[in-house]
Amino acid sequence: MQKRGYGPKEVRIQTRTRDKLLKLGYYRPCCEICGWFRAIELAHIVEAHKGGPMLWWNVLTLCPNHHVLFDKGLLTDEEEKGIEDKLKTAHGLFAEFIKYSCES
Ligand SMILES: [Zn+2]
Repeated sequence: MQKRGYGPKEVRIQTRTRDKLLKLGYYRPCCEICGWFRAIELAHIVEAHKGGPMLWWNVLTLCPNHHVLFDKGLLTDEEEKGIEDKLKTAHGLFAEFIKYSCES
């Protein structure tokens, strides 16, 4: 009998997420806000459906709690300050990306 919460599906998802993180250059993935590392998700800064790519500057590694808070815009000022540089880089590069795409 399997322990609750540790089914094969969950393990497969975690492995896939870990592999993505390794490809993106995160060797010890943990939440970029609180440092928790037991469950990690990838959060797009510029959302995928708006054209945000799966590249290091557009992806945050967050724990499930901070992922929800980030997506809903409910992070505290202090929490946002911790990831501010990455947010600025993402928005700067994305603006360039849009400009380049529109001009070519
Ligand atoms: Zn967190």
